[in-house]
Amino acid sequence: MSSATVAGHEVSTDHWIGGERVAGSERFEVITPIDGSVIAQVAAGGAHEADLAVAAAHAAAPGWAALGPVGRATLLTRLADLIDQNVERLAAVECADMAMLLESLRLRVIHRAAANFRNYAELAASYEERDWRSKGTWNRVQRMPAGPAAVITPWNAPFMLSTWKVAPALAAGCPVVLKPAEWSPLSCSLLADLTAQAGFPPGVFNVLQGTGEQAGAALVAHPMLRRISFTGSPETAREIGVAAARNLVPFTGELGGKGPLIVFEDADLDAAAAKAAGQYDDAGQVCLAGTRLLVQESVRDEFLERFHAAVDRHVLGDPRAPETTVSPLIHPEHLARVDGFVKRAVAAGDRLVRGGQPAGGLLYEPTLFEPRANDSEIVQREVFGPVLTFQTFADEAEAIALSNSTPYGLSGIVYTSSMGRADRVGRAVRAGVVWVNTFLVRDLTAPFGGIGISGLGREGGNYALDFYSDLKTLQILEGSVR
Ligand code: NAD
Repeated sequence: MSSATVAGHEVSTDHWIGGERVAGSERFEVITPIDGSVIAQVAAGGAHEADLAVAAAHAAAPGWAALGPVGRATLLTRLADLIDQNVERLAAVECADMAMLLESLRLRVIHRAAANFRNYAELAASYEERDWRSKGTWNRVQRMPAGPAAVITPWNAPFMLSTWKVAPALAAGCPVVLKPAEWSPLSCSLLADLTAQAGFPPGVFNVLQGTGEQAGAALVAHPMLRRISFTGSPETAREIGVAAARNLVPFTGELGGKGPLIVFEDADLDAAAAKAAGQYDDAGQVCLAGTRLLVQESVRDEFLERFHAAVDRHVLGDPRAPETTVSPLIHPEHLARVDGFVKRAVAAGDRLVRGGQPAGGLLYEPTLFEPRANDSEIVQREVFGPVLTFQTFADEAEAIALSNSTPYGLSGIVYTSSMGRADRVGRAVRAGVVWVNTFLVRDLTAPFGGIGISGLGREGGNYALDFYSDLKTLQILEGSVR
């Protein structure tokens, strides 16, 4: 058994398969973005470990299904309680692993993960099966757990994002094999420990560690899987989609974003500018971020003055320090990717308004471009870093046209004081979620997902339970049974 001491806490660096730690033969290095040092050598799985993990999930499936939604809800609620009780440990490890702000992890993000389990414990226990009479028969829709599910997650907010998928899959009765991202694999190892402490039967929850190319690819190609749920980039989604198609396995993808943040002249400009500056939080490594600032021409100067003042108040630094608001990027390779976007934009003639440079270690300056044209790469492609673009529009029609001018469609943010406009623009923006005068709040029963290259399928509420269930119609001739 191998483990690492991360932020003062012991974390297993092995796989978790069938209720046991499995070392495997190969290892990969994990660094902390805080200072770039190596903090763990984690098991690098391949086809053999993927096979063991799916076999363990498959073996656990009948027992987990037989427990029924109420039996499963008891364990999910216990797990939620354990997550809440372990917030300090989970937050400290995740902060070391991916450099999300410690305060944000302690106060919001980890509790949100617990809420996902609590929410699905309740939803699954009250998930309705439709009953009706027609054509001389009694009809009932039965929902059956689909079987072993693979959950593949990205490196940003890895603990909470994994629970968006793990919670509904387990609640619906599907054992899970979770493959966390190789740049931040540690907090999900702690989730395995908590499932054991909560009393989950062996094989119901498994963690397969390793790279996407080896562990991820072997997992999604496995013929015994019945569902695949992925969060990550559209490029990887295409590869996983091909593997899923080969085995005819349903697949959902929560993918990248390039959301507009639209500010109308009737908006509260202080609030809009503060929220726009807030898009640099977590170093812009947020799929839902409104990275394209679209501002009505008539309030351009008033908005920019407030925006720059708000960005000036950002403090770049160590994510553990309470005063820090912008943390380091996840990895040197990612910093080089972000910097590559910035350099190409400058070379292409997009006007660099502020920032544009690394700021020591893995920090990067909050950066703003005024693009030379809407087809600039910096407008059209997701950077996933602290880089925003600024464009103006004349009227509602132009705001909508610009909003819908990229291949993405994950989220949109609108600032206006007009109800009519909120409704019209909210409807017209092509995205899975549009927030008006707010950002990132989401009722856990609401659908969540993307349009275009931002996603396939929906998570959240009963939408995710539907995904992890096989539906059957039971039809009985009236009067034929007693
Ligand atoms: P990524 O696509 O590179 O990797 C995501 C996961 O897929 C990782 O676990 C990786 O190991 C695995 N993977 C890679 N290749 C694979 C393969 N061939 N087969 C199976 N698995 C494979 O994404 P990333 O860089 O980790 O994350 C950033 C991306 O995720 C951004 O595009 C971001 O917008 C997106 N994201 C989307 C949401 C959402 O809910 N829509 C949330 C967070 C992040």
